[in-house]
Parts: sequence; C-alpha cells; structure tokens
Amino acid sequence: MEERSTELGLESSRILHAPRVANVVDAIINWCREYSLWPYAFGTACCAIEFMAVAASHYDISRFGAEVIRFSPRQADLLIVSGTISEKMAPILRKIYDQICEPKWVIAHGACACSGGIYDNYCTVQGIDTIIPVDVYVPGCPPTPEALLDGLIKIQKIIEGESIRDPKYRGA
Ligand code: SF4
Repeated sequence: MEERSTELGLESSRILHAPRVANVVDAIINWCREYSLWPYAFGTACCAIEFMAVAASHYDISRFGAEVIRFSPRQADLLIVSGTISEKMAPILRKIYDQICEPKWVIAHGACACSGGIYDNYCTVQGIDTIIPVDVYVPGCPPTPEALLDGLIKIQKIIEGESIRDPKYRGA
C-alpha cells in the first residue's frame, strides 16, 4: 500500500505555491508603483515647457498618479530628462541619477535628450543614454504632451512586468 507523508505533501505544496504568492505580491507592489510615480523633472530647454503642459490642468498628469513632482532626487523614482544636455551638465545628470534610489526609471523626453537633436556639435551630449540608462525614449522636437503621457504609460507597462525577484531589487 502506498504510504503518504503529510510533511512531504506540505513541502511540495509550498514549493508549488511559492511562485504564485510571489506573483500576487508582484502584482500588488507593481500596481502601487505604477500609479504613484514621483517624477524628478530635469528640464534644461524647450521640452521642459511641454513637461509643464503635461503637469498642468489640461493634460493633467495626476490622472496617471504621477503629479507629485519632486526636485530632490532622494524623493523621486522617475527621472524625466527634458531638453538639451551639454557636456558640462553630463556629470550633474549622472550624479542626480545615482542619487535616486532603486527602483527607478528614466524617460528621455525630446530629440535632444534622445540623441542630441539638432545640436550635432562638440558641446552637446549625443543622447543621455551615453551617461545613464534610459527606459523610454519620447521623440519629437518638441514632443507633444500626449507623447510624454504615452511615454509615462510605457513606463507603467514596464513596471507591470517587473518582479521583486529581479536582482535590481536586491541591490545587485
Ligand atoms: S528637442 Fe527640440 S524642443 Fe526639445 S529641447 Fe531640443 S530643441 Fe528644444
């Protein structure tokens, strides 16, 4: 007759259910993160005006839960770089990125931030991804407010697919 061990059963059920529990925890945490992004606005040129339009009442970024604009990297988790970045600004941008705690996400807002834009010269950074990692690129000169909101939604989609089991959440 087959002998059954309760202990073994419990253990295997624990193993079987562990990923499911983690998935539920992921879903809850990701949902909270998605709809409570705190943007740090690194605005240096005209694209920053478009960002201001997004934050104002007509486009109303608060519909996406991202209206708590911070001016301290220590209180933010979404870096939005809007405008031209000169070589002199590059180390400052890097420092601000480093001061934002994980988890953090980055939007390159506008052609200048994405690729240097029309400024193909010695003093302009040819894309902020040469200094910091970028999650979403929003092209245009300037991009419309709707385009930035679309970028924000893409960040939310990225967050949806993340897991607390990712090495980035363990400080690795
Ligand atoms: S992409 Fe165009 S609008 Fe935006 S900062 Fe550069 S020049 Fe200005």
